[in-house]
Amino acid sequence: MAQLSDRMRELVQPHLRDLEPYDPNFTPTRVNLSANENTYGVPATVRAAMDEALAATPTNRYPDPMSNELRDALAAWHGVRRENVIVGNGGDELLYNLVLAFGGPGRTLVNVPPCFSEYAFFASLAQTCVVDVWRDSETFLPNEGALVAAAREASLVVLTSPNNPTGDVAPLALVRRVCEACPGLVLVDEAYGEFAEKGASVEALLAERDNLLVLHTLSKAFALAGARCGYVIAAPDVVDALAAVRQIYSVNVLTQAAALAAVERREEFSPVVAQIRAERTRLFEALSRIEGVRAWPSEGNFVLVRTARASRVRERLRDEYSILVRDFSYAPGLADCLRITVGTPEENGAVIDALAALVADEAAAEEGGAND
Ligand SMILES: *Cc1c(COP(=O)(O)O)cnc(C)c1O
Repeated sequence: MAQLSDRMRELVQPHLRDLEPYDPNFTPTRVNLSANENTYGVPATVRAAMDEALAATPTNRYPDPMSNELRDALAAWHGVRRENVIVGNGGDELLYNLVLAFGGPGRTLVNVPPCFSEYAFFASLAQTCVVDVWRDSETFLPNEGALVAAAREASLVVLTSPNNPTGDVAPLALVRRVCEACPGLVLVDEAYGEFAEKGASVEALLAERDNLLVLHTLSKAFALAGARCGYVIAAPDVVDALAAVRQIYSVNVLTQAAALAAVERREEFSPVVAQIRAERTRLFEALSRIEGVRAWPSEGNFVLVRTARASRVRERLRDEYSILVRDFSYAPGLADCLRITVGTPEENGAVIDALAALVADEAAAEEGGAND
């Protein structure tokens, strides 16, 4: 594993000594189903509106720090007020600001792994203690009793719904219990909310629980991962605290303009989202039919699978078929798991066929080896 130079290990803050220099380990491939992006891209009509907005945006002036025009559009969409919304440079920035504002030494963040690894990473940067309430190792569903108990002692609880990478939705009743139990704040990360069943969102709870935050992003359903725009809906004083710690110009003018155009035309993404949902069913069913593959049902735009020698299968997918998927086999709780983003029909067809061939080949090799 890469590590910081000896000189840097001396100079960085003590709690950062064992950080690994970031290695994106990125290989360009024909088919990239590794990052849960929307591989269909922005619909042409929306892209045209976006291009027009971008062309009309001067870049010589600093951006509106709070993205108020965009905030108003997001507030109108979600039926809340401007004061309830804060925009960030991707959802990631808001997650970082959350631990910056509310974490720190002596504070605890409760995490429900396997889940998005950034929560624990950002918490560690801010010297926040992370408490893991592990999901069931078979179903990947949260341990509700343990979660509510941990929430009683927590400064922050983060729940992902649908969860990345396991695909399940957090039940509303559970989120309500966690909010009631927690003396601090509860963030529900709905980065994949648009792909879930209608009614899966916990936003309805915002009116009754002022310690609830709901995170959204335009990176997934709205195909703007490269533009970096996410937002949180919460009580006005929570928004104020998040605003107080943020870098004031983090959301640039081009992002604000592009995001506003996408939000105003959000209905035009509906057919794409519907197609991804239909493809998700097809992908899940096809993967489940492959002997030696277990797939978990998902409400996101990805499917988690387990298969023997997953790491090797993932490498062969990349090297022999030029298909990239995410390897989780080294992540705690996710032995031999791969996460496959739902792509276009062609991309999904390619990964289904390739995976079926590789899994059969690996099984044959295993048997051959056993007979030697
Ligand atoms: C992708 C993702 C986000 C946010 O991504 P941004 O591109 O930073 O907006 C947040 N949470 C989860 C679980 C994600 O998978």
